[in-house]
Amino acid sequence: MINIKDNLDKIKAQINQACQQSGRNSNEVKLLAVSKTKPASDVEQAYLAGQTDFGENYLQDALEKITQLSHLPQITWHFIGPIQSNKTKHIAEHFAWVHSIDRAKIALRLNDHLNDIDSQDTPLNICLQVNISEENSKSGLSIEEILPLAEQVNQCKNLCLRGLMAIPEKNASTETYQKMQQLFNDLQQRYPSVDTLSLGMSNDLAPAIAAGSTMVRIGTAIFGARA
Ligand SMILES: *Cc1c(COP(=O)(O)O)cnc(C)c1O
Repeated sequence: MINIKDNLDKIKAQINQACQQSGRNSNEVKLLAVSKTKPASDVEQAYLAGQTDFGENYLQDALEKITQLSHLPQITWHFIGPIQSNKTKHIAEHFAWVHSIDRAKIALRLNDHLNDIDSQDTPLNICLQVNISEENSKSGLSIEEILPLAEQVNQCKNLCLRGLMAIPEKNASTETYQKMQQLFNDLQQRYPSVDTLSLGMSNDLAPAIAAGSTMVRIGTAIFGARA
């Protein structure tokens, strides 16, 4: 049996330790609990243990949970998976953050949908996904594509450019993490709204935090292995 509360405590201890080792304050790193494929009851358990931010990859799976858990007032949903353009309406409606933007078309569609949603007075928070290890199989921008897309997002009135997201390849080098840190710092110099480096998962939280991550996305270490 996995105990979600114990797992959250363990992850928070790991985050604290990694922060200490790199001379950072642990309140600089936010924990995003990745609940993809897991039932709403698991999300609720984590919520009752104090976790408020949850990441989802699959729209249908996510929408069911969002509906079932609409009674939890503080819950914040983050979309972190690849986005097809026919899914943007629901994402704009139901999520507070999107970490996986790598095409202008998707950003513009999200922005347009938000024009039609009256209740949405706060902008949708956006991270641009960078394919930092240049893997053919992975989504994300190449380095040269970051600034042009950042400018487009910055000009969308219903979007708020918050930063960068990446999934480094397995056993990526320290230089890979440092490159992300550099790209993040460069973006922060240009846009005052940028404050988020979404980097680090269950297996690479420490190198990510050493490289300045401000948000780690943890699934397996909280909810157990996925089927
Ligand atoms: C699944 C997923 C995670 C969580 O990965 P774990 O290894 O289970 O911690 C984080 N980020 C993204 C984009 C994911 O798709």
